[in-house]
Amino acid sequence: MREITHFIDGAAVTGTSGRFGDVFNPNTGEVQARVQLATAAEVDRAVRSALTAQRDWAQVNPQRRARVMFEFKRLIERDMDALAELLSSEHGKVIADSKGDIQRGLEVIEFACGIPHLLKGEYTEGAGPGIDIYSMRQPLGVAAGITPFNFPGMIPMWMFGIAIATGNSFILKPSEKDPSVPVKLAELMMEAGAPAGVLNVVHGDKVAVDAILDHPDIRAVSFVGSSDIAHYVYSRGTAAGKRVQAMGGAKNHGVILPDADLDQAVKDIIGAAYGSAGERCMALPVVVPVGKVTADAVRERVLGELETLKVGISTDPAAQYGPVVSQAHKQKISDYIQMGVDEGAELVVDGRGFSLQGYEQGFFIGPSLFDQVKPTMRTYQEEIFGPVLQIARVESFEEALHLPSSHQYGNGVAIFTRNGRAAREFAQQVNVGMVGINVPIPVPVAYHTFGGWKRSAFGDVNQHGLEGVRFYTKVKTVTARWPEGAVEDSAFVIPTMK
Ligand code: NAD
Repeated sequence: MREITHFIDGAAVTGTSGRFGDVFNPNTGEVQARVQLATAAEVDRAVRSALTAQRDWAQVNPQRRARVMFEFKRLIERDMDALAELLSSEHGKVIADSKGDIQRGLEVIEFACGIPHLLKGEYTEGAGPGIDIYSMRQPLGVAAGITPFNFPGMIPMWMFGIAIATGNSFILKPSEKDPSVPVKLAELMMEAGAPAGVLNVVHGDKVAVDAILDHPDIRAVSFVGSSDIAHYVYSRGTAAGKRVQAMGGAKNHGVILPDADLDQAVKDIIGAAYGSAGERCMALPVVVPVGKVTADAVRERVLGELETLKVGISTDPAAQYGPVVSQAHKQKISDYIQMGVDEGAELVVDGRGFSLQGYEQGFFIGPSLFDQVKPTMRTYQEEIFGPVLQIARVESFEEALHLPSSHQYGNGVAIFTRNGRAAREFAQQVNVGMVGINVPIPVPVAYHTFGGWKRSAFGDVNQHGLEGVRFYTKVKTVTARWPEGAVEDSAFVIPTMK
């Protein structure tokens, strides 16, 4: 069986723990490879390599570092087809969606090509008599990233793209469910000209994560995954004195006002709810139509769209979504559907019986639709992370604003309307981090920043954009004078700028 090894100091490193994780082919349900799970000693080995590499890397001028990013971008574009196929084969998302996953990461790399501009500090000439002040942004040292299964291309690049371009070295602990693309990315980074040790990949589970959180030489940890683990990583990492950003789960709402273009809004919601089998933190699993007329019309249109929605294997170009990542996840989604029934929601379409001929053991689940979902239900309060759309009916704009605002998660939200004033008020008032106005998946572009609110993110600094640059750098401020002439007396009071 194929074995997926760590990538440390520019080379494949065979792990010694004797512990492995199964990597499935979600289309067939078969185990296609096993990934080594690191010990704390292997994490330490990666940190030592990263520490050594970082000393020199920080001295490489920013433009030369950016040139590595340019080359990395070219190599990813060269290998896009192979990377997308590899990603789909472990994750289960369709090839076109895997290309989108990699492309969104690549956009962060494009942003990172311009990072020299953002590392420039500030300068004040003559802040005092003969005194100039300047500040500089310096890298932190060794940073680490712990990433989820659902975007094995994009999310690692969100992190190491910015970290490396700003002069840090990086240790990536990708999801053990689909670990192959992250290793390829590290290999391509070496081919692009990054020195060995600047980007290391250590596979693993809680053992590796805890070793990262406790390691005294790792200065910053970026995490993306589910909220309970995000909170754990944030607490343990900050207690160890690290800078930590930890993005968590989500339950994004799509509010539809009565004046919306319903045909367009429903098409948008279908793609956002069921694309990637709902395994996106910016999926739109809750639709909130305002008023009965709108709700009935939305329901009818959704049912119409579901009749033609095609679920297939990840290499089928006609499939709109493929299998979910694992049998355990499929079971969890099925359990949530049963819970919805038990809680009294109306199960309008049940995807649990779905089976694909020739792929009966694959982790497929058909699209499901619930109506009459109430805020008191657990299936509303919790993240399902599957192809399940819930209609939560409300009677007023105020109620529609209240639902996402009071939900425990606050990652993304969308409003569909033709009324600019209502949209503006909604965007201004809603207690959620990323808002779409007639945009179902409001993932900001790379030069803006990504981050949710409430239990969708712990820590104060978002991913990528300017906030990403701030996360991976620290400011040093220098106050300088070059005295000449007579020696001045000692000053015993705090210097002021009178
Ligand atoms: P997960 O929390 O199970 O795993 C994320 C990472 O944490 C993995 O690398 C995993 O190995 C590690 N991990 C798992 N259990 C751990 C433990 N007990 N101790 C220490 N580390 C542990 O998440 P997942 O299932 O891979 O990804 C799906 C989740 O990620 C969803 O909740 C989704 O909403 C969220 N997500 C959030 C964002 C965002 O930006 N907010 C983006 C993508 C995914």
